[in-house]
Amino acid sequence: MKYWGYFVSKLLVAGIVFSGIGIGLTKLLPERTTFGDFTSEPWQDLPWTFAFMLFGLTFLGALTLVVIDQRFRCRTCLRRLRMPVGAGAWDKIFRLGSPQTEWICPFGHGTLRVFEIHFTGHMSDAWRPHDDNIWRELETLSTTSKD
Ligand SMILES: [Zn+2]
Repeated sequence: MKYWGYFVSKLLVAGIVFSGIGIGLTKLLPERTTFGDFTSEPWQDLPWTFAFMLFGLTFLGALTLVVIDQRFRCRTCLRRLRMPVGAGAWDKIFRLGSPQTEWICPFGHGTLRVFEIHFTGHMSDAWRPHDDNIWRELETLSTTSKD
């Protein structure tokens, strides 16, 4: 819930900022052209059209950055995921698996697996939460290695 709340709050902040920029842009741009009784629509003036095209592209870029930033955040503590580790290989795809990158939370809350190729359509990222006790996994590894 905290994860999605943070995402929605970032979207709201981006929406508020860009609505303010849009309102300011309409105030800064020159008046629309008039020819006698005819007043052009905003999309018929070249400065308005270019200004709002750039505004729209900037807004889409900001939304993309918000989504990408959210994708690489820990689902528990919202910190940026770190330490990308490559797994799999293109030339040994049947032995090692498909190429993928694993990102881990610096506090050990979980691991995000990002597939680099998508064989059967879109393969969504796989978030695997870790156990609360990180030492239990190490103890399990040490007891199984003795056997
Ligand atoms: Zn975390």
